[in-house]
Amino acid sequence: MGGIGSGRRSQIGKDTTSDYLSLDVRRLQRDGLLTPVRSFSWNWSRNSRIEASIQIRIEADRAILNYRYRRGGNWRPEEYPVLLDRTGCNFGGQRAWFRCPARDCGRRAAVIYLGGSGIFACRQCYQLVYACQRESKDYRALRRADRIRERLGWGAGIANAEGGKPKGMHWRTLDRLMVQYEESVGEFLAGTARRFGLPE
Ligand SMILES: [Zn+2]
Repeated sequence: MGGIGSGRRSQIGKDTTSDYLSLDVRRLQRDGLLTPVRSFSWNWSRNSRIEASIQIRIEADRAILNYRYRRGGNWRPEEYPVLLDRTGCNFGGQRAWFRCPARDCGRRAAVIYLGGSGIFACRQCYQLVYACQRESKDYRALRRADRIRERLGWGAGIANAEGGKPKGMHWRTLDRLMVQYEESVGEFLAGTARRFGLPE
């Protein structure tokens, strides 16, 4: 069973997305891990050292998360389902989504975060803001992603849904922007995971 909780503290002031462990359903989908029934460990590493890990079991329409979370010196086991949703894609195939497991939420989210409650939930539930005060490499990647979203008329926020092709845009342009977008999002998320456990 995986363990999480190396005494990480969030920054003073508003929490930011980069203070949290994040789990990206698109990454799981890209890696071909969303086919039922399948169990695997998901790790967050830094300098080739595993900082945190959870067990994930994929069933037909849900992912069961299983891990231990440390709070007040005690390791508490957590096991709960996160529903999976699938929507058609403009580019063919299907897109997977998490349904936020927080009570009374159920929002569709590409990324869920592990915040202070010890449970993964969507960005809105944790009222996360992006780390705009930090001109880090990761944040520049995030802003690059947002600028592409704006160009595509999708609105800012990589946790939000991807839209379709804007009227009048060439497919080739769209393809190029999509590649840049995926790269930027990937860079941001990799940086987020790398920073886990590191005081800044
Ligand atoms: Zn939520």
